Amino acid sequence: GGFESLGLFPEVYRAVKRKGYRVPTPIQRKTMPLILDGADVVAMARTGSGKTAAFLIPMLQRLCRQVPQSGVRALILSPTRDLALQTLKFTKELGKYTNLRTCLLVGGDSMESQFETLAQSPDILIATPGRLMHHLSEVEGMTLRTVEYVVFDEADSLFERGFAEQLHKILLQLSETRQTLLFSATLPSALAEFAKAGLRDPVLVRL
Ligand code: AMP
Repeated sequence: GGFESLGLFPEVYRAVKRKGYRVPTPIQRKTMPLILDGADVVAMARTGSGKTAAFLIPMLQRLCRQVPQSGVRALILSPTRDLALQTLKFTKELGKYTNLRTCLLVGGDSMESQFETLAQSPDILIATPGRLMHHLSEVEGMTLRTVEYVVFDEADSLFERGFAEQLHKILLQLSETRQTLLFSATLPSALAEFAKAGLRDPVLVRL
């Protein structure tokens, strides 16, 4: 089960090689085939495990060949601005041979500059929950209903930072047919409840 056995499109595979990834990490080996199959997944994985690429590679594979449509197609929720920035960097690197557009919505940047990137019809939103909710309340016509692929990254940290209520509100704005992934180092009961509400028959992956 190397990267070559996943059936990735050349534009995705090339970027993986370019990034210097030769062999999938254990979490990647376990999650990527499931995600590529369309399953909802709860993955117990910490930073350093290669978790980011585990959800980005299948996401790019899924997004890069479909007909252009208007609306955001993927949403990645991060607990902190720093993690969101890091994820944006990975997304740009792994997505460099696709023409997918990204948009970063985090606190600390001006709303105005974010309005501009949002207006350029991004395919992928990388956001912290507070700033995403702020945009949803300010931007008329902004919708998450077109989102096909959602990632709750470092979900235990999202909960520890008090985002639970906002996350539940975000769930309500998503389409029923989306694919949902939750990556977390730990799975406290509040988070397990959230996964029950937000994911469909999720496969639990632990190392
Ligand atoms: P993460 O756990 O997502 O923060 O990733 C930790 C580090 O592992 C990052 O620097 C990644 O670029 C790197 N990485 C992810 N997947 C692989 C892989 N298959 N081979 C080598 N390095 C990887």
